[in-house]
Amino acid sequence: MSQYNSIKLFFEKGYSVEEVNKKFPHIGKLLLYKYLKIYRLERFNQDAKNVLYHSAKWKELRRQVIARDGRKCHQCGSTKTLQLEHCIPKSLRPDLIADLTNLVLLCAKCHKSGSTFGRKGIRNTVKARAKLLKKISET
Ligand SMILES: [Zn+2]
Repeated sequence: MSQYNSIKLFFEKGYSVEEVNKKFPHIGKLLLYKYLKIYRLERFNQDAKNVLYHSAKWKELRRQVIARDGRKCHQCGSTKTLQLEHCIPKSLRPDLIADLTNLVLLCAKCHKSGSTFGRKGIRNTVKARAKLLKKISET
């Protein structure tokens, strides 16, 4: 995948498959077309995320999560630098990106160090979501 990352930089600059193929003749056009497809999909997902995060829908979701979680970190109770976290990472379940049950309020510290940050520990993220769902169903 590190090969893909270096190829991606050329697609970002607007190079065509032909041009990238001249620079990396050992990779082969077929694989380059595949990389271009992945790159376009990534771009599409990124654009979709950007649109969501600047939308009124996202602001409303954010407001709802903050109210539900009582304006404090779900993990440590801190009220400093609160952020929304996706219990199941966006990369795994992009369909749950704007799902209220997949969002939890965390402080920046817990967000980064948490077992649910990024791709770390799928098992933990699933557990966290189950706990959250239980909490929501009780209220
Ligand atoms: Zn915290």
